[in-house]
Amino acid sequence: MSDLTAHDLTDLIRAIDRAITAARDELNALDSALGDGDHGTALSIAFADAADKVGQLETPTPSAVLQVTSQSLLNRMGGASGALYGSLFLRAAVAVKDRPALTHDDLKAMWQAALAGIVQRGKAQVGDKTMIDALHPAVQAFSDAASLPDSFAQAARAAQEGAESTSVMVARHGRARFTGERAIGHVDAGARSVAVMFAAMNSYWQEGHPDEA
Ligand code: ADP
Ligand code: MG
Repeated sequence: MSDLTAHDLTDLIRAIDRAITAARDELNALDSALGDGDHGTALSIAFADAADKVGQLETPTPSAVLQVTSQSLLNRMGGASGALYGSLFLRAAVAVKDRPALTHDDLKAMWQAALAGIVQRGKAQVGDKTMIDALHPAVQAFSDAASLPDSFAQAARAAQEGAESTSVMVARHGRARFTGERAIGHVDAGARSVAVMFAAMNSYWQEGHPDEA
């Protein structure tokens, strides 16, 4: 099985950009129920910027692609989740520094570091109705799978289930923490965007690398 190159990662960022743009209105609607309704728009602007900038890298490395993406999220997204998504990709970039291409083990370590970074920054735990409810099970599933294609597939499934699980939760972080019991019955916007991101990576991986499944 081949490792993930900077070229692959660039394509993954572009695939995430397309999926987030397609989900923009849905993400805004989810954020409208419990927040200020900007999550889809903010995220799609940031990923469009990232997709543009990663294509302009003169000497792309996996770490550089992730670093540029984190800058777009930090600079163009704003708000609570811009800093959180930015720190996710920044930690990922640091975790794979100097690697010319990423092995399955590199990717497992990368996601673990990224999750640790976002938890350290946002202080949310599973059950608090945030993006962590999708990200934590996704990273766990990614680490538990035996092959790279399985990791992408299982992580996408776990992220989707994790996002759906937020529907019964009361929010403890972000703007949604003021909504109390009213949050019940609504999926968290950030958890849903994490699920969209993992679904996009899985589709790209399965379609782009059909021989390696
Ligand atoms: P803002 O609340 O600044 O408008 P967004 O609408 O872009 O930011 O993102 C809201 C999402 O951010 C929430 O749905 C939730 O998933 C996530 N979020 C908020 N606070 C935290 C936190 N402390 N830790 C993890 N995720 C958080
Ligand atoms: Mg918002």
